[in-house]
Amino acid sequence: MQIEALRGQKPVQALTFWGVRGSLPTPKRDNLGYGGNTSCLEIRSADNEIAIFDAGTGIRNLGEALMRQSQGKGLKLHIFLTHYHWDHIQGLPLFAPLFQAGNEIIFYASERLGSIQQHLGGQMNAPYFPVKFDEVAARTRFVEMDAQSVAVGDLRVRSFPMYHPQGAGGFRIESPSGAIVYASDLEPGQGELDRVVREVADGADTLIYDAQYTPEEYRTHRGWGHSHWREAAAVANDARVKELILFHHDPSHNDDLLTELQNQTRALFERTTSAREGMVIEYP
Ligand SMILES: [Zn+2]
Ligand SMILES: [Zn+2]
Repeated sequence: MQIEALRGQKPVQALTFWGVRGSLPTPKRDNLGYGGNTSCLEIRSADNEIAIFDAGTGIRNLGEALMRQSQGKGLKLHIFLTHYHWDHIQGLPLFAPLFQAGNEIIFYASERLGSIQQHLGGQMNAPYFPVKFDEVAARTRFVEMDAQSVAVGDLRVRSFPMYHPQGAGGFRIESPSGAIVYASDLEPGQGELDRVVREVADGADTLIYDAQYTPEEYRTHRGWGHSHWREAAAVANDARVKELILFHHDPSHNDDLLTELQNQTRALFERTTSAREGMVIEYP
């Protein structure tokens, strides 16, 4: 019901990019083609559930859209977090549905990363924010995920470990319409976890992969927890995915460079796109 009411059209599974930048928002003129907001994706299932992946600053615009579309009716939202670095949670204190009574928001993250409630609450404690996380109007619940998948309508979501400072967990999202793998933030070069991401991504329709650096920049940023387009293309080829999305763009990469990196990647994996804020992929 929800998706028909919201879109006025036949339901399909759709993936929308609300924030594609890594590290820090970059609202400057030569970045606006791809967008300046940090990580946030929305997946609407064919049976009308709304799953959100990461709560970077992109989630603020998503929140406004959801509030407009819901017209005062209660929303049930599922928010999956890869980890708790600022660029993945910073939009949450300004996410309008959190402050609307009658809404229910369920948060999910890998159990390996500790207490979701405690970590999200930390960024809203005094003196960082005027409203405490446990005082918001929406009903909240927390699900620390183990190796089992969780169901959100006809979506099945499972977490997998990624190599990143302080840990992170990516997600594979499957439904009868297709499979999406969200693999940001991660660094290559760890034999076991390099194997895990290839196994998890195997045959996916869409692989969203960390391409923060150029391969040249990566040489001086080893240990920072991010990857580059050459590795993204290697994973896409090894896992035989249908489509690769370069994601978590570096704040210093402007529109011209992101288009150039996309084109360089296409020489190795043809169906590559640099993630762009507002981009929608549909899975009929
Ligand atoms: Zn990040
Ligand atoms: Zn991170």
